[in-house]
Amino acid sequence: MSAHADAQNMIAARLLDGRDRVMSLPVLVIMPHNRCNCRCMMCDIWKIRQVRELTAEDLTPHLNSVRELGVKWVIFSGGEPLLHPHLSELSSLFRNEGIRVTLLTAGLLLERRAEMIAKNFDDVIVSLDGPIEIHNRIRAVPGAFQRLVRGIGALRRWRAEIPVRGRCTVQKENFCRLRDTVRAGHLMALNSISFLAADLFSAAFNRTQGWPEERRSKVALNCREVEQLADEMEALIRDNQKDIEDGFIVESPCKLRRIVLHFRAQLGQCPPASPPCNAPWVSAVIDADGSLLPCFFHQSIGNIYSGSLKDVLNSERAINFRRHLDISANPICQRCVCSLHLASSRTDIDRL
Ligand code: SF4
Ligand code: SF4
Repeated sequence: MSAHADAQNMIAARLLDGRDRVMSLPVLVIMPHNRCNCRCMMCDIWKIRQVRELTAEDLTPHLNSVRELGVKWVIFSGGEPLLHPHLSELSSLFRNEGIRVTLLTAGLLLERRAEMIAKNFDDVIVSLDGPIEIHNRIRAVPGAFQRLVRGIGALRRWRAEIPVRGRCTVQKENFCRLRDTVRAGHLMALNSISFLAADLFSAAFNRTQGWPEERRSKVALNCREVEQLADEMEALIRDNQKDIEDGFIVESPCKLRRIVLHFRAQLGQCPPASPPCNAPWVSAVIDADGSLLPCFFHQSIGNIYSGSLKDVLNSERAINFRRHLDISANPICQRCVCSLHLASSRTDIDRL
């Protein structure tokens, strides 16, 4: 049977079993504020001038859906969520429901808002893109690294045991300093660090028209650099074996090597390969303008101002999107840097 017939049969089977209706949504990502106070070279979100924010009044009508869909984990992402003046109010909506609430932040405001965060969030993920000079250069904010360190210190003074995890976006400025980044993570007393490749092609990060080649080349790797990345990755796997075994480095060696393959695919050295992912069936992203996205990279499937979260998630448009999405063949998925593959178990969520 041909691959095309296989795909047709798969879609037909899904039509019959109603699999593309979402009745359970373990993970909900919310972007409460659309602007950012960093100026990162791999992102254009900081260029947004018009402020958009979600309020408690916007989200409260969706709490019934949140209950019905069994949301277990809410992640506040951005933009920079800490620019939102009433973030604690938003967080309380979900914590009052017994839902784990995570803050994903670049950390410039961590110190100033440490008490609020310690009291209103279960855990924090910070962007850490290298040792001091590299991190500050990528953020394009002098002292960003030092502010992050002070912020984590302040957070731990308010709540010593609060988990703080790091996330490093691999790109031209830091690809040969991965081991130093892990070292920096230890010095900051992070609980763990994870790596992902920089996204260069999607319309996410306020790049609605995509990037011109000249801009992309400032973040992408060339043929020589990708060989250096391969060497650095092998050195990381070899030298930091204990960090991988005890989970300080979140990714397995296989997943770390996939980052190298991702950059190789960009150079045409190997075919692009989609990661395992079921994000559009187990999660959703609410943007600051109320748009509901199936993941960070695909386009909106509706808006939370037009109906309940559960209804928008199961609108004809949303179901059609999922029904026709073939992750292995979709070109956006084939270039995806941040996928989610989740069984519907609590253990899976705790591991993330
Ligand atoms: S990558 Fe993150 S921290 Fe940097 S400008 Fe974009 S949203 Fe802000
Ligand atoms: S692979 Fe990436 S782009 Fe495709 S659905 Fe999953 S998260 Fe979205």
